[in-house]
Amino acid sequence: MLNIALDGPAGSGKSTVAKIIAKKLDILYLDTGAMYRACALKCLKEGVDVTDKEKVEKIITDIDLEIRYENGTQITVLDGENVSSDIRKAEVSMLASTVSAHKCVRLKMVEKQREIAASMDCVLDGRDIGSYVLPNAKYKFYVTADSEVRAKRRYKELIERDEKVDFDALHEEIKQRDYNDSHRDFAPLKKADDAVVIDTSDISAEEVAEKILSYVL
Ligand code: C5P
Repeated sequence: MLNIALDGPAGSGKSTVAKIIAKKLDILYLDTGAMYRACALKCLKEGVDVTDKEKVEKIITDIDLEIRYENGTQITVLDGENVSSDIRKAEVSMLASTVSAHKCVRLKMVEKQREIAASMDCVLDGRDIGSYVLPNAKYKFYVTADSEVRAKRRYKELIERDEKVDFDALHEEIKQRDYNDSHRDFAPLKKADDAVVIDTSDISAEEVAEKILSYVL
């Protein structure tokens, strides 16, 4: 199977780039962040404190989470309900960062990610794809950008979706998520030793995708 690992911090442009690559190569795009966001949404709906390891483990063990594809677009289904837009809400981002630090949550999600990657050609975006989920992936990239640039991208996305956001608070949240994601004990945000690093601060998503495709094609 052709698996392309695309890791990097929040707002680095991973998902936009991954979508372009998936389209050009006619392969699927697996957004692994959506899975952790769905876990966070489940906790929110059940009133479970995301820092409470025991309670989180209890509800995540039997989580009814399905990743489906409709016309090549990923649909995240939680308890039979399409939650693809609910998981994008700003409040879910920080909860996802906290809930994803629990080893039990990661093991469960990584198992699903490996199953999907073994069954189809895909580009996967996340934090630990090249370093932990698929250490043998043939192509690994680590995309990054200055935190202010990343916060501006997220701000634009949320404003376009009519969400009320304060730029400074969003910038702080991105920095906090970077810290959480890169300092957790198990499978943190990390560049794999053999990943190609691309700084996306001053180049467009199309240019990043072209760079990546020049390695793959
Ligand atoms: O990529 P996205 O911002 O949607 O991810 C939401 C959160 O899920 C991240 O802040 C991170 O904590 C977590 N995540 C992760 N590992 C991945 C993908 C996402 O820990 N492979």
